[in-house]
Amino acid sequence: MSESKAHSFQAEVSQVLHLVVNSLYSHKEVFLRELISNASDALDKRRFSALQDKALAQEGALHIRLTPDADAKTLTLADNGIGMSEEELQANLGTIARSGTRDFLAKIEAARAASDDGLQLIGQFGVGFYSAYLVADKVTVITRRADSEQAYRWESDGKESFTITPAERAEAGTTLILHLKEEQEEFLKEWTLRDLVSRYSDYIGYDIELSTYARDDNGDEKKDEEPTFVKINQASALWQRNPKDVTAEQYEEFYKHFTHDYAAPRAQRHFKVEGTQLFSGILFLPTRPPFDLYDPEAKHGVRLHVRRVFVMDNCAEILPKWLRFVKGVVDSEDLPLNVSREMLQDSRAVRVIEKQVINNSLNMIEELKKDKSEEFFAFWKDFGAVLKEGIHFNSDQKGRIAKLAHYESSGVEGLTSFDEYISRMKEGQSSIYYATGADRAILESSPHLETLTKRGFEVLFMIDGIDSFAVQSLGEYEGKKLVSAMDENLNLSENETDEEKQEKEAQKAAAAPLIEGFQEILGDKVKEVRASDRLTDSPVCLVVPEGGQAPHIERMMMAQQVGMPSQKRILEVNPTHPIITALNAEQDGDKKKEWVEVLYDQALIAEGSPVQNPASFAQRLTRLLSQAVGSPS
Ligand code: ADP
Ligand code: MG
Repeated sequence: MSESKAHSFQAEVSQVLHLVVNSLYSHKEVFLRELISNASDALDKRRFSALQDKALAQEGALHIRLTPDADAKTLTLADNGIGMSEEELQANLGTIARSGTRDFLAKIEAARAASDDGLQLIGQFGVGFYSAYLVADKVTVITRRADSEQAYRWESDGKESFTITPAERAEAGTTLILHLKEEQEEFLKEWTLRDLVSRYSDYIGYDIELSTYARDDNGDEKKDEEPTFVKINQASALWQRNPKDVTAEQYEEFYKHFTHDYAAPRAQRHFKVEGTQLFSGILFLPTRPPFDLYDPEAKHGVRLHVRRVFVMDNCAEILPKWLRFVKGVVDSEDLPLNVSREMLQDSRAVRVIEKQVINNSLNMIEELKKDKSEEFFAFWKDFGAVLKEGIHFNSDQKGRIAKLAHYESSGVEGLTSFDEYISRMKEGQSSIYYATGADRAILESSPHLETLTKRGFEVLFMIDGIDSFAVQSLGEYEGKKLVSAMDENLNLSENETDEEKQEKEAQKAAAAPLIEGFQEILGDKVKEVRASDRLTDSPVCLVVPEGGQAPHIERMMMAQQVGMPSQKRILEVNPTHPIITALNAEQDGDKKKEWVEVLYDQALIAEGSPVQNPASFAQRLTRLLSQAVGSPS
């Protein structure tokens, strides 16, 4: 019956153990908050399961107990939470299930090799249970699941393997015995433990009790009397407290507890809503993006409580995907305690909560922008592209998100907003001009912008993948139409004099035969060839027909969807350009064909697209250059 089974740690666990011990040696005290955090999670689960099954309720209050033993040099943490079965012990304390772990660990190793100690990264990953090995050279876990009579003992020196042996435990819950390393006696002192708990674990909503000896008149511990458990924390849910009574450190530690983030949050918002739904909560903006911010499988959402009882983690039903970086806790007074994900999905009450959570999240970001501009820009750099998804997906809030949005621009260094753009608009300018593309450099030299910039119109550069979609969904900003410089129908004639208009018409008419020639040579490579009035310095450019995707988006979609046909573009020709006028006069049909093909290929290059046949493009170019220097081709 008491047979001991030996198991090897999963390779990733050994790696994490190694990293934890080697990156966090100067922050050994983190182990305590990690283990208390785990105990608190286990108490949350116990309280929640007891609602469904009365048999799982514990006798007496839920608590976390710390017992230092100076003689044995052990620190013991005990909780009367949910406990673990044999299988759970093996999985939870022997493997790491989180997807992407392997790649992430490789990244940390690389950071460590490059002299960065990897501290930030390993912290971001969440060191969890394994942080016990910062202070202990052996850890014994004795645990009994709330629905079982059988307890188990897990034991390991934190190197390669662990053992699991059947054991006994009087009630359900988990006990961790840390056999402290040399010179870690610090963590046996009453004062140290009290200090660490009040600094790092004060947000915990359960009693944390310390085994304490009574003291004599000299202040010495009365070791001949039995110690008693003394409560050393406030033990009330942080979001239930008055914001005036919560310190920045307490918010920070609470945030770290449920996010496993090592860095402090960038901003927080503590709120209470009293309307058709009664609920309160705290939302946070992380400082650093998680490594899986763009992983479609990554979990997101806030922690949901119902009347203080923890119900579920990563509750995505009350936080849309475009706010997936927001962390926090929401505590509802109205939802039923046995609420399931299915119920959340089609609950009207949940829609009301979601709306308020969105509102408070945006408030938090707006406040950051208003009060801490530098912090806001740091936030925007990492999370702006995600937030902008909301312009596309949330029609209610798109105007509000657009007000927060910042873009590169032809008019200024750095980032600028729509409001700032409008304040710089020229007299008579009625639209906001923008260009979408893969990066600023490509857009800056894009032929599409020539006329706009020559006329003194500023152009916003939208270089995030989401921008093309977001800007289309937005349509306009504060009554000003958003117009793409690449738009098929870009019309600048509203700003022209009659004379200019007439001249243009004449040029267009003169170019008509040439346009036809282009069309014949290029055949079905293009949808249409036409005279342009957006070009000044360039002979040609390609534009996307209405409803089509910008070239960099199309390339991205084609890379994901094999066999997707590419859309045909419109080739615009600048009838006033010297090359075009020369070409118009050219009699030699072969030469003409050669020139037109080179022009088409360089229009592709200018927008950042690959040419269809690079080798023949290079040959043509060489022939033309040879002619230019007067050598026979
Ligand atoms: P995390 O807390 O991020 O899940 P940890 O490494 O801290 O990661 O813990 C691993 C798992 O071990 C937990 O998810 C939980 O299932 C289990 N565990 C740890 N401590 C306890 C405990 N005191 N009671 C019950 N389960 C626990
Ligand atoms: Mg943990």
